[in-house]
Amino acid sequence: MPKPKTLTCQTCRSREPHEPLTADEKKWLEGQLGNRVGDDFYKCVNDLPGGKVCRNLRRESVERHFRLTKRLPDKME
Ligand SMILES: [Zn+2]
Repeated sequence: MPKPKTLTCQTCRSREPHEPLTADEKKWLEGQLGNRVGDDFYKCVNDLPGGKVCRNLRRESVERHFRLTKRLPDKME
């Protein structure tokens, strides 16, 4: 399994802790993209003011994988 890593975040504009996606999050992203999602997607877990978590998505090898930034919903169904 992929491990948490410190990666740059396009939204935070800094190096932040990132975690691999859970099975549910991966499924959500596959629904969004319409194709299979590999193990190299990470979410930024930087705490933002107001008690939110960034949750911006990126690939380990590609900071700007999405033309526009994409973040996970705060609550997964
Ligand atoms: Zn971030």
